[in-house]
Amino acid sequence: MDLYYIIIFFVLGTVMGSFYNVVGDRLPNNESIVKPRSHCPKCHHILSPLELIPILSYVFQKGKCKNCKASIPIVHPLFEILSGIMFALTYYIFKLTPELAIALTFISMLLIILVSDMNYMIIPDEVLLITFILLFIEKIIIYGLSDAVYTLIPALLAFITMFLIKKLGDVLFRRESMGGGDIKLLFIFGYVLGYPLALLSIFVGSILGLPLSYFLMKITKSHEIPFGPLLSLGAIIIYFSQMNFNQIIDLLNWMS
Ligand SMILES: [Zn+2]
Repeated sequence: MDLYYIIIFFVLGTVMGSFYNVVGDRLPNNESIVKPRSHCPKCHHILSPLELIPILSYVFQKGKCKNCKASIPIVHPLFEILSGIMFALTYYIFKLTPELAIALTFISMLLIILVSDMNYMIIPDEVLLITFILLFIEKIIIYGLSDAVYTLIPALLAFITMFLIKKLGDVLFRRESMGGGDIKLLFIFGYVLGYPLALLSIFVGSILGLPLSYFLMKITKSHEIPFGPLLSLGAIIIYFSQMNFNQIIDLLNWMS
C-alpha cells in the first residue's frame, strides 16, 4: 500500500473540500468566491488561518464559532472528510497516471455540485463550464488534440439522450421532471466516461437513488429531490469500477 500518497491526497482533498464548500454555497447566490473572506455567518468574524484548517478546527473549537460561540453545522467537517476520502480513493484507483488529473477535475466538479444541488437545487453553469475547459485542456495535453475533439461526440450524444429522457419524463409526470443543469451535467459525463457508460450512470444512480429519494421525500415532505447527487453517485461507481478486480481485493484486504 502506498499509504504515504493516500494520506497526502486525503489531506489535499480536505483542504480542497473546504474551498468547494464555499464555491458550492456562494455561486448559486451569485456571490464572489474570493470576497468576502470566509467568515462566521452569524457574527461576521473573519476566520483566521488556524480556524480554516479542515476538520481539526471544528474539533478544537468543539463545533462552535471562536468569537460568538454559534454552532458550526456538522455538515462542514463531514463534507471535508468526504472530499478527503474521494481524493484518496481517486489516487488509489488511478495512481500517479495522467488520467488522475482528469479524474480529480471530475470528482471536484461532483463535490461542488453536491453542495449547490443539495442546498439550492442548482447546478451552476460556471462550474460545468470551468470543468469542461479544464478537461478539454487536460485531454489535449494527455491524449492530444484529436482525442479532445473526437470525445465531444459521446458528450453531445449523452446530452441529447438526457434531453430526450427529460422530455419523456415531463410528459409522463406532467411536470418538470428534471432541471436543465442535470442535462448539461450529462454532457460532462459523456466527455469523461464515453457514451454508453454515461447513460449507465443515469440508471445506476436512479436505482440506488430511488430508496434514498423516497426516504428524503418522507422527511422533507418535498416532491422535489436534487437529481445531481444521484447522477454523480452513479457516475463515480461507473468511473471507479474501471479499476481491476485485483485492486478491489487489495482494498478489501487492507480494510480488514
Ligand atoms: Zn461567530
